[in-house]
Formats: sequence, C-alpha cells, structure tokens
Amino acid sequence: MYRNCFVSQGFAGKCSAPAKHRTASAWCRCRGARGASWAPCFRNRCAPRRTARETRLGRLAAMFPSEDAGENVFEKHIGRPLFHENPTTLQINIGLTCNMACSHCHVESSPNRRETMSFEVADRILELLRNSWFIETVDITGGAPEMHDAFRYLIRQIRTHIPHVRTIYDRCNLTILRQIEQYDLVEFLKRHQVDIIASLPCYVEENVDRQRGNTAYRRSIAALLELNRAGYGLPNSPHHLHLVYNPLGPYLPPNQLGLEIQYHEYLYRNFGIFFNRLICITNMPIKRFLDDLCRTGYYEAYMELLVNSCNLAAVDGVMCLDQIHVSYDGTLHDCDFNYALEMPVCWGHPDDPGPQTIFDLQRSFDEVAGKQIRTGVHCFGCTAGNGSSCTGAIVT
Ligand code: SF4
Ligand code: SF4
Repeated sequence: MYRNCFVSQGFAGKCSAPAKHRTASAWCRCRGARGASWAPCFRNRCAPRRTARETRLGRLAAMFPSEDAGENVFEKHIGRPLFHENPTTLQINIGLTCNMACSHCHVESSPNRRETMSFEVADRILELLRNSWFIETVDITGGAPEMHDAFRYLIRQIRTHIPHVRTIYDRCNLTILRQIEQYDLVEFLKRHQVDIIASLPCYVEENVDRQRGNTAYRRSIAALLELNRAGYGLPNSPHHLHLVYNPLGPYLPPNQLGLEIQYHEYLYRNFGIFFNRLICITNMPIKRFLDDLCRTGYYEAYMELLVNSCNLAAVDGVMCLDQIHVSYDGTLHDCDFNYALEMPVCWGHPDDPGPQTIFDLQRSFDEVAGKQIRTGVHCFGCTAGNGSSCTGAIVT
C-alpha cells in the first residue's frame, strides 16, 4: 500500500533513492498537490542511511565551517548582531511533560518527560512580572502546559495581581482537552480570559495523524468543537482561538493568509468549526526535526533553502527582539528555540556571562533591554521567506 509522502507540497526535489526502492517503499509514493511526480519521502526507508560521521554536529560543521571556527554565520549574513528591546512578551516554558510525542517537536516533549516548574520559580516569575511594566503578554508553552501544577497557579495570580498583563496565551495541543482529568479546563481558561493558540498542523486527517499520532486529528476536532461551544473562536467573541500550521516536511510554509482561508473553508464546511487566525510557523532545524533531516539526508537541502530564502525584512520582526523566555527551572533564554538548544542568555563575556536565571535579575524583566541576543544558524528558520515567529509570519 502506498502512503502519502511527508514532503507532499512545495518541495521541488526528486527522490534520490533508486527507482526500484521507490516503487517498493511503502513511504515513497507522493500524492501531493500535483499528484504525479515522485518526491523525496521525509521518512522513507530508501533514504540514504546515516553514517556515524553524519551526526548533527558533523553536518553543521561540514556545512558552516566558519561557524564551527567561532564565526556567527547568521550575524554575518544579516550584517549585524541583534539586541533586545523592551520586552513586551514573556514566554514561559512551564515544563516538558506532554500527553503526545510529535515527530516535529522542537523540545522533544513526551509523556515520559518529568521536567516541570516548581512553585518557587513560579513565584519569582510573578515577582519580576509585577515590576515589568512593558510586558503585556504572557505566553505559556511546554510540553502540554495544562499538565503542570504551576499552570493554573500562574494564571490565577496574574489575573488577580498583575493587571498590566492584558493577554495570556495557552499553547494548547487540543488533545489535552480530551483527557478526563482536564474536564474543567475549558471553563477555567474562559473564566480567566486565557486565549488559546492550538496546534493543528494540517486540516487533513491523514497528515495530522502522521505527525502527531493515531486519532490525534479526531481528538483535535472534538476539542475544537468543545471550544466553539464555550464561545472560543466565534465571530465577535472575546475568547480567541488561533490555530498553528507547520509544514509536514523540509519546506517553507505557504502564504499565511491564503492557507488561513483554506483552513476556514475546510473546517467550517466539514465540521462547522470557527477559529480566529491561522499562525504559520517554519520548522526549525533543531531536535527531532533535525534528527529527521539528518536521517533522511535532507539537512543540507533544508539549510540551503533557509539561507537562500533569508528575508532581511523579516529580521526586524523576529520575536526575540521584544520577548524574553523563562524555562521551567528559571533559566533565561532569548527564545524557545535557544532554550531547546540549551543556549541560555549571554550578556557578558563567555567566561562571565552575567545573569543567567530569573534569580540573577534584580527587579524586573525590563533589565533585558539593550542586551545582545545569542543567534546561530538555526535563526535562519525565523527569517526565511515571510519570516516565522510564535505569532506567525512576520512579513505579510
Ligand atoms: S503536542 Fe507540542 S509539546 Fe507535545 S510533543 Fe507535540 S509538539 Fe511537542
Ligand atoms: S531562533 Fe529566532 S527568535 Fe530565536 S534568537 Fe534566533 S532569530 Fe531570535
């Protein structure tokens, strides 16, 4: 039986595997947008096998030798380093436990991960947030953030004591809403005016299940209907529901507005589902997605695509400029991707990097303004094409 190729749309390459393998592989028959051509299968079994030399670092060093020698290829390409402005968004990675284990997950979450935020860290965040007058958005991610004890605590405290935070986002995987122990989650989110940013990487069932696991699509649709019933995503409703698309393979997201129209049409026509906006996010060449790129031999092609598509107009809107990120243990990062790469902030010399955790800040998150951002080759994922951020395309 043939199955859809992971690289079903927008990727111009041809399968590099021998023809006899292509026809024999269960993974390799592309039935993508144009239906007729062979395309490389992102997880095919006929992709070149990874050798011991082809590790992540080996690939990186081979493709960006000057980066390996200490040069910042990204900064050289865009012509300047990046610096934090006054932070208006605080992103909190509350922990890595998740009820799912998606193939593209850039923080490698799963039900087996145990990392979670303590109440001591949560209290310190709240203390700093009270004095951080520029921050009006708190964006809580994970893992599945709802599974962590500090999640509801943080939200209650912010809504009770920190009025200058106008927007709280819950980055929700939707399937968590179907867990029996989360029976009151929707009501809790609505009562505390939490907006939802929900992953739905495609509107086609087969594609979602391939990336997120069996039945993920049906559970997601059931969750979206439940959210609509509670008032989320309805026209003129104050309770916002945004969906997140990310490509299913090594290619860039299509035009965000055009895809949003397709999502609206499909979901309304087939299920009667409403939502507010679609957010398109480029897959970053890190963690599980990088593993897949290396395993299937598409690392170089994907990095070339990102570098050649670097859009200098998007550089001015990358999310790290007005955002600061705190991980579950209180470590400060310039963004969630730097967190995934274990690159904490460095505001001094590498031997004396300055504040590294929320306990090193004196009074507020506003202290990050003017500090240099740590960048690397992964940052090309934010600047390729229309640009990519946690709130979607940067250039529209
Ligand atoms: S639902 Fe999100 S956090 Fe959980 S494994 Fe999938 S991508 Fe990662
Ligand atoms: S990955 Fe993107 S958001 Fe993070 S530091 Fe690089 S450019 Fe900024």
